[in-house]
Amino acid sequence: MSLRSAARDWVDFDRKHLWHPYSAVGANQTVQPLVSADGVELGLADGRTLVDGMSSWWCAIHGYNVPELNEALRMQVDRFAHVMFGGLTHEPAVRLAELLLRIAPPGLEHVFFADSGSVSVEVALKMALQAQIGWGAPQKNRVVSFRYGYHGDTFGAMSVCDPENGMHWLFRGVLPEQYFAEAPLLGDEPETDEDIRAFEALLSREHETTAAVILEPLVQGAGGMRMYRPGFLRAVADLCRAHGVLLVLDEIATGFGRTGTMFAAEQAGVAPDILCVGKALTGGHATLAAVLARPEINEGIRRSEPGVLMHGPTFMANPLACAVARASTELLLATPWQERVRRIEAQLAAELEPCRALPRVRDVRVKGAIGVVQLTDRIDGEDLSTKFVELGVWVRPFRDLIYVMPPYIIEAEPLSKLTNAIRTVIQERANLAPSENP
Ligand code: PMP
Repeated sequence: MSLRSAARDWVDFDRKHLWHPYSAVGANQTVQPLVSADGVELGLADGRTLVDGMSSWWCAIHGYNVPELNEALRMQVDRFAHVMFGGLTHEPAVRLAELLLRIAPPGLEHVFFADSGSVSVEVALKMALQAQIGWGAPQKNRVVSFRYGYHGDTFGAMSVCDPENGMHWLFRGVLPEQYFAEAPLLGDEPETDEDIRAFEALLSREHETTAAVILEPLVQGAGGMRMYRPGFLRAVADLCRAHGVLLVLDEIATGFGRTGTMFAAEQAGVAPDILCVGKALTGGHATLAAVLARPEINEGIRRSEPGVLMHGPTFMANPLACAVARASTELLLATPWQERVRRIEAQLAAELEPCRALPRVRDVRVKGAIGVVQLTDRIDGEDLSTKFVELGVWVRPFRDLIYVMPPYIIEAEPLSKLTNAIRTVIQERANLAPSENP
């Protein structure tokens, strides 16, 4: 059977049986049968190749099928693929933890390995709440998060996502109730600091029942691809300290260089009490996340009633994932990633900025290796993705956002192919009647 007809079979089976992210089985959605991924190219079963603009949702910073990462997986699989972490330890976990603590913001000394970003957020929130209990403040049992924030799809994580995007109305009565601060204003220099004043007012009012604040530093990702100034993050960190509230930074999307520094928080000179990382941690070659914490957090937890952190996933510190994460981080450190991210940033800015003049474009935003065009109305993401495939690129728009965050290894020409495709799609859309579904 040819690859093409085999692929038709899987797509058929897929349509009847598989869930995809944010989908329903049987819904009229298009899935592309993929047979290879190499460098910055995704290969489809019909022989077409697409330039990848997504890094598989922030992960594949070195591109795909990376020899150094494949080798790390091969070496580890020949030793052992997995062992429980209860009562056992291993070199991949220890070496990775050492490396993370070396590059992380100062003050973080302890590491918890989780299996996905959402789980790491659950662990971070649990750490904060349990530490507060240990410090004799069990009434500090809520979390402050920000409108347009996104922290994952499990229930604890969902409770701190933007209430609208996070579908809070659907799970009313089930989700823990949290406090929501106004989102940071967009841009490097907003005209006012009313976002800071609103946060300050909320924290002065609620600090006695607040365990922690959780925030994505400098870029609110899946909740709206919103970039904001380091000064806002600095003010949040200062106010948290002043009010005895812990600061949890979610660098799951921004970590490992995406915004131009290893961690986005560095640009604000802020070090959190608890840090979540994931996604690009393994260069997208396996699933792994980590929670890094200050020693005081562990001390608080030790003083709480059970005396231990009540979390222990089956696949905690999976050796394959840890080995490839170490290889990915070492590869990052050995390559001129800052220069690459700067070059991508400059090219995205130059080539996306003209979109601002196109009809039905609200805003163009670029930060590090992230480029965003926000439209004035909602798009049919499925339709547009198919159009992008026809243009030879892999871009997945959502809501009113067309955005790219390509692998750092992308060269100027394929990057232009991405930005040209974005301009083409927006231009063609402008020629159609406005959407009736704003
Ligand atoms: N936090 C942020 C900032 C994210 O972007 C994501 C994933 N989009 C998550 C948490 C959840 O990570 P995961 O999908 O690995 O559970």
